[in-house]
Amino acid sequence: MKTKSQPMRSCVGCGEQKSKKELMRVVLSPEGTISIDRVGKAPGRGAYICPSKECLQAAYKGRKLERSLKHAVSKDVYETLEQDLEQQA
Ligand SMILES: [Zn+2]
Repeated sequence: MKTKSQPMRSCVGCGEQKSKKELMRVVLSPEGTISIDRVGKAPGRGAYICPSKECLQAAYKGRKLERSLKHAVSKDVYETLEQDLEQQA
């Protein structure tokens, strides 16, 4: 039996590679709506970000979610992410 390697994803904020479990997933659905994928299984293009305010700020300032998803990301999405962080803290 081979040991299953952890899928690694890079954070859009700091660019660090981490396992999927350590990151939050933002998903662009085939219908073009952006949401936070809390189960990690939503269909569509996904972007990953560390659950940290620093990375969220960096992503917001650099419009990195937009670039990663190739789609406009409204401020609401960032605000929802921020609220999620606060709830987890
Ligand atoms: Zn990060």
